[in-house]
Amino acid sequence: MRKGGSICSTVLGLLCRMAQPGMTTKELAKIAEAEINKSGASASFLDYNGFPDVVCISVNDEVVHGVPNDKKVLQPGDIISFDLGITYGGMIVDSAKSIIVGQGNKQKQLLLKITEESLSSGLKQIKHNCRVGDISAAIEKVLSKHGYGNVRDLVGHGVGHNVHEEPNIPNFGRKGSGPQLKSGMTIAIEPMATLGGHSVFIDKDGWAVKTKDGSVSAHFEHTVLITNDGYEVLTSV
Ligand code: MG
Ligand code: MG
Repeated sequence: MRKGGSICSTVLGLLCRMAQPGMTTKELAKIAEAEINKSGASASFLDYNGFPDVVCISVNDEVVHGVPNDKKVLQPGDIISFDLGITYGGMIVDSAKSIIVGQGNKQKQLLLKITEESLSSGLKQIKHNCRVGDISAAIEKVLSKHGYGNVRDLVGHGVGHNVHEEPNIPNFGRKGSGPQLKSGMTIAIEPMATLGGHSVFIDKDGWAVKTKDGSVSAHFEHTVLITNDGYEVLTSV
């Protein structure tokens, strides 16, 4: 999972650097596909529940699960979120990053910064015998303080042998509640925040999860290994 995490992080970094106004999300997916093939890994999301591509690319009011599309042309100021699962040596890691294409306004820049901060805050709770609610409450606190919509219909999760394993790790909750986490477990933490409300719906394509009020959103995710005294992020280079 360390090796897969390093590949995942490299591909996500490449996508973030390559994304430019005028490109389509399908062009970016092809770049990801080539890089994954070169690395000897495979894309965990391809064919997962029928997903048709190697990476989820979600733009603006799309929160997650956007399908790369050769008609979706990136515009300056778009928020673009890449969500990538990598299978290496039979094990899976899951990570996501959001960036602004070209230059965005201060409001969008802050949304990205704070969503990533909420992920860090959640991660800091992790150690042997902590509870899921400790992570959830820490993420919720950061997003609430800034008045952001905190998407509740999607959650973090166990990961490793499968893309989604138990336990679910919501981005809201009460400290000290929920299942206890143990050293050696691997989990994906993934806050999703919006500049509006928390309600979402599934687009008519059957995949993209979009904000109901049309507000833009950000998504950051890491896969981590729980250790005796803390955690190790597996999806950063
Ligand atoms: Mg993911
Ligand atoms: Mg995930």
